[in-house]
Amino acid sequence: MTLQAQTGDPDNIMKKLRQQFAVPLSLLLEIAGKFHGEILNGLAGNKSSLKMLPSYLSKPSGEETGVFPALDFGGTNVRVRLLHLQGCRGFSVKRQKSMPLRDREGLYDYTGASVAAVELFDFIAGIIEDVLKCVAEEPSLQCELYPLGHTFSFGTYQTGANDAVLINWTKEIKTQGVEGQNINRLLADALLRRNLFHVKPVVILNDTVGTLLAAAYCDPYADIGSICGTGHNTCYLEQHAAAYQEPVIINMESGNFDLLPLTPYDDALDQNSGKPGEQRLEKAVSGRYLGELARLILKELAQAGKLFSGGDTGPPAVLEQPYAVSTKNIAFILESEPAAGGKDEGLVKWLRDNWGAACSNQDIAALREILSMIAERSARFVAATYLGILRHIDPALTSRHTIAVDGSLYEKMPGYADCIAAALSEALQEKAGMIKVKLTKDGSGVGAAIAAATIAGRSGSRKT
Ligand code: BGC
Ligand code: MG
Repeated sequence: MTLQAQTGDPDNIMKKLRQQFAVPLSLLLEIAGKFHGEILNGLAGNKSSLKMLPSYLSKPSGEETGVFPALDFGGTNVRVRLLHLQGCRGFSVKRQKSMPLRDREGLYDYTGASVAAVELFDFIAGIIEDVLKCVAEEPSLQCELYPLGHTFSFGTYQTGANDAVLINWTKEIKTQGVEGQNINRLLADALLRRNLFHVKPVVILNDTVGTLLAAAYCDPYADIGSICGTGHNTCYLEQHAAAYQEPVIINMESGNFDLLPLTPYDDALDQNSGKPGEQRLEKAVSGRYLGELARLILKELAQAGKLFSGGDTGPPAVLEQPYAVSTKNIAFILESEPAAGGKDEGLVKWLRDNWGAACSNQDIAALREILSMIAERSARFVAATYLGILRHIDPALTSRHTIAVDGSLYEKMPGYADCIAAALSEALQEKAGMIKVKLTKDGSGVGAAIAAATIAGRSGSRKT
């Protein structure tokens, strides 16, 4: 579809977009049903867009305590923290260091294709070394051996809690020689190269699993963990997984779910992505892609002269450049309030300075509407998947459930969290009170320390 095919006035174009992006209750329930079907297919070993990967972890007892390093390798940053777990009193961060995966000066662009596995893991081991160096001055933090928890925010096949092979990169990461490799071995080798013999990786887990563990540490009802950030994915506690006597947390890799009513914009984005055909839900909902989706729509409108046509230089240059519009930009625009009198002078200036776009008040109204449509569709798609999981784990909703969510999109996109809650209420009606969706900030990193404590099998790793 192109706008040429939807000739007519801007009102008609907006009408068409509204239809394409709407997720009315009937569609929400239909997606939930399909998602549920894919859960069942995946669990039964049949073809499914959900990978349903066992984590070899279950819920924590809440009594895991002590000092543990946690490595959090996400889609945007690498962060290492030394955490002191204190049971239901929570945790405190003793030391931490965070580095972006993509440096502004291009010094270490680990999303680029030229970097190889060894280089990436040497970089990570260097951060671990820096963080542990600081404990030299603090005897209470010194240990002979540090059991390390490693959150790795990508899909892996695991054969045990500390054995994970990367299936494939997502979120447009390209570092070579990592796909198909054993991640814990790559890390362990890099630690040895730095003589960090006192750091012992004991567990590797997905960030959704970390988020669930962090919430379940103190909340007995937490049984679903999800990330709405750069990427998207959800895990849940499966009570009846085949081959497991105990309940086990399953990483669904739900970003790959593909039974969705998508638009030609989604298809164009997918075709130009690093891995066409994969991660279709993630590409429609997550922070890595929402800005690009917006750009494709805005570009078409601008080229058809329906948007930003006030200037004399044609469509804004920013719309020509892939990924030049970011999800942060969307959040910023949606959060900026019109000044008194309905004038959007601040935003008009921002769009001129940052996008080179000449905007009328109508442009601003259309822009806001398009961006909210994109964000709202994302929240409602995600809510539909949560409904699909609930249908599987507790069809009659006889128990309470906490859905623990972490990620910048959930935390920062204006209206996003409310929109998920509203969709769940709409679908569950009087049962909606049984479900709580809770921001679990930094859950993935904390969860790594909790998992390390569980595996280390003792309360604390302190020397004294
Ligand atoms: C990855 C998941 C991860 C999610 C959120 C996706 O791209 O495939 O493993 O949980 O991003 O970080
Ligand atoms: Mg993360």
